[in-house]
Amino acid sequence: MEYLNERVSYLRGLADGLGIDDSTKEGKLILAILDALEDFADAIEELEASQSELNDYVGELDEDLSEIEDRLYGDEDEDYDYEDEEDEDYEYDYDEDEEEDEDEDYEEYVEVECPNCHMLMSVEEELLEDEDAELVCPHCNATIKVKDLKIVDDDDED
Ligand SMILES: [Zn+2]
Repeated sequence: MEYLNERVSYLRGLADGLGIDDSTKEGKLILAILDALEDFADAIEELEASQSELNDYVGELDEDLSEIEDRLYGDEDEDYDYEDEEDEDYEYDYDEDEEEDEDEDYEEYVEVECPNCHMLMSVEEELLEDEDAELVCPHCNATIKVKDLKIVDDDDED
């Protein structure tokens, strides 16, 4: 929006060229209008900048989100190798130290039933440990709290 400022500058130059000053009522008004226009142009420029920053940020969030979705709902048969992925700033808190002794394959998946549409989906067992965690059902897109999920596997029932 640089050009808004340029246009106001142009008008100011024009007013100067025409000898408009604040010695007349009209001159005062025109100069005041030019001041106001300058403020508008500045404000819009700032808005543009912060909006494009926000845009970038939302774009990054979106990318991160789809990667997380892929990990949560991706094909079960795919072998997720977290270590192979570029280490971005995911805050997955896989406690590898604890788990790696037991089994290399610590990404256990559990079949659960969506309380909304009653379709089955697989989620990582670790995710279920956090009752307040939320996930989005890949079938009906409802946001579901982990504690509302019905676990279908009977292996793990106490
Ligand atoms: Zn559902």
